[in-house]
Amino acid sequence: MPELPEVETVRRGLIPVMEGATILAAEVKRPDLRFPLPERFAERLTGRRVASLGRRAKYLLVDLDGDEVVIMHLGMSGSFRIAQAAVGGEVVGDFHHERSRDAAHDHVVLTLSSGATVTYNDPRRFGFMLMTERRALAEHPFFARLGVEPTGNDLSAEHLAMVLRGKAAPLKAALLDQSIIAGLGNIYVCEALHRAGLSPQRAAGTLVTKGGEPTARLERLVPVIREVIAEAIEAGGSSLRDHAQPSGQLGYFQHSFHVYDREGETCRRCGDRHIVRRIVQSGRSTFYCPACQR
Ligand SMILES: [Zn+2]
Repeated sequence: MPELPEVETVRRGLIPVMEGATILAAEVKRPDLRFPLPERFAERLTGRRVASLGRRAKYLLVDLDGDEVVIMHLGMSGSFRIAQAAVGGEVVGDFHHERSRDAAHDHVVLTLSSGATVTYNDPRRFGFMLMTERRALAEHPFFARLGVEPTGNDLSAEHLAMVLRGKAAPLKAALLDQSIIAGLGNIYVCEALHRAGLSPQRAAGTLVTKGGEPTARLERLVPVIREVIAEAIEAGGSSLRDHAQPSGQLGYFQHSFHVYDREGETCRRCGDRHIVRRIVQSGRSTFYCPACQR
């Protein structure tokens, strides 16, 4: 699954060729992905200008002129490929992994006034594209109950104190809850908890005082969540295989994991004295150091 930093990396890769450009032609090669594609999709895209390319949680939002937005999700294996009409003989967007180059899995192809062709490829077809009116977006079933963005200003210790107050659920589960923080995935929750020195098993409500104020621990956690996400975006996302950046380069954040996927290895903070442990919480692996995460 692509996590938020990969989706943000994809967005940043597409912005230079899509934002402000007009869709000159759209080729839609099948009627559906995970869900049916919008009716008359190609026709409705053609001639429209991309006003902006946004993101909410793990959804890409293509704002078209007029009042429509295309909601895109990469599913398990979706990726975009950019080909630039031979500018100085150079072609950008050559992908490193085999499947993405297989034209049999190219489902939507956009030809843009920027000179670029953007191709959506998705071998497993768990991704989707839907259209909705801009003004209806906040009430859309995908977005109506989403929590705050981990990258935005809405994420604050005060806000988390309000939503975590009295919660007996483990901190790990609360941070993965999309209605609390939108799009913060398993990897980044594990990394943030390690960096903040907090146990994933601690009850979420213990980060809030009786009076409803954030504790010092919660004050410490918030900037760490921002940091972990920002570093992952900077590194181009974490996945090795299926979510290459539109430029074709791969994300390298995984090389800097401190606990994630490091079961049995030494804790990077404690050194040789302690090893990273793996437990399963709500069906997902949690990696943590029992010595320095309390
Ligand atoms: Zn440790």
